[in-house]
Amino acid sequence: MSTPLAEQHPLNDSLEDLVGLFDVRRSSAPMSEADRGLALAAPKFGTVFTDHMARATWTADTGWYDRRIEAYGPLQLDPATAVLHYAQEIFEGLKAYKHDDGSVWTFRPEANAARFSRSAARLALPQLSVDDFVASLAALVREDRAWVPSGDEASLYLRPFMFASEKFLGVRASLEAEYLVIASPVGAYFANGVSPVSIWVEREYSRAAAGGTGAAKCGGNYAASLLPQVEAQKLGCDQVCFLDGTGTFLEELGGMNVFVVKADGSLETPELSGSILEGVTRSSIIRLAQDRGRTVTERQIPIDELLAEIADGTVVEMFACGTAAVMTPIGRLAGSSFDETIADGGPGELTMSLRAELTGIQTGAVEDRHGWMRRLA
Ligand SMILES: *Cc1c(COP(=O)(O)O)cnc(C)c1O
Repeated sequence: MSTPLAEQHPLNDSLEDLVGLFDVRRSSAPMSEADRGLALAAPKFGTVFTDHMARATWTADTGWYDRRIEAYGPLQLDPATAVLHYAQEIFEGLKAYKHDDGSVWTFRPEANAARFSRSAARLALPQLSVDDFVASLAALVREDRAWVPSGDEASLYLRPFMFASEKFLGVRASLEAEYLVIASPVGAYFANGVSPVSIWVEREYSRAAAGGTGAAKCGGNYAASLLPQVEAQKLGCDQVCFLDGTGTFLEELGGMNVFVVKADGSLETPELSGSILEGVTRSSIIRLAQDRGRTVTERQIPIDELLAEIADGTVVEMFACGTAAVMTPIGRLAGSSFDETIADGGPGELTMSLRAELTGIQTGAVEDRHGWMRRLA
């Protein structure tokens, strides 16, 4: 797989024109200002949603139509709707941040749009243009702008997704699809300070295999990761790290990529094998580390080599990364036959410093040298 995230797709037209394609049908029952204030004061990720959602409908005959912003609310689905049976579904996750001057920005949305296209292709779902994707985010955020929290690392989490909506039990690609974006206010991921996680290295279950859907952001991959996650928690670990199908090489967590920092200051991360999801955070960290003159190697990392290098002090830090937590230090790796603490088990220095730089760019405190930020409202 190539690395299309590096290429930024510029919007073809001005965002203003594109946002206008989404017809606004305002909610007749938005949350009261007082209740919204309470929700924003103590946001609980993924439980409270804004007043509206963006939506568009597709059929094989007409293509995309009826781009709209409508009241957030339950969907009515026929029990035979294809997605409920064959899991033909994809999603994305990104955040909108309120900057000090009140403007609202998001981070590299064209990269998420490009990945959404690749996920759609793998799941035999229709393509949605980069323009439609970014315009849907802007149209929703403009309508629900009062829902974007301010404060340290607080944001409005945006969840675009697409599913097979045809009422048909035959096994083939759906001829109808729905695209939606919902939004949920979130506080800082580590409300009580960044604390390292412990990781169970999974040798029994795989999350994805060569030729499978591991490189696509689809719900099915997450479904496969849930049982290993339950078992890892029973064994006292916070998260699972999956290996490749042969049980030899490090791949990634259920929803985050992984990095290793060596004593010589270099970084390593598993190469994009076809079964690893190419994170926008991963690609941004590679860039920021290289900007600092660090060597970043993308390669196959054998788990046995990694364990030996943790034990002999060659590996001094590990972290996981993804949009939700940005960067999470890994303090410990455990498995059926080992239990290794990385350095002193605390958050690594480089991990924390790259994390501060990346969150600083996103929240507007650090200069955006790479032109990654896009203004939505
Ligand atoms: C979403 C996701 C990531 C992280 O991607 P970001 O773009 O950095 O949020 C990593 N791995 C998997 C499996 C994912 O689904």
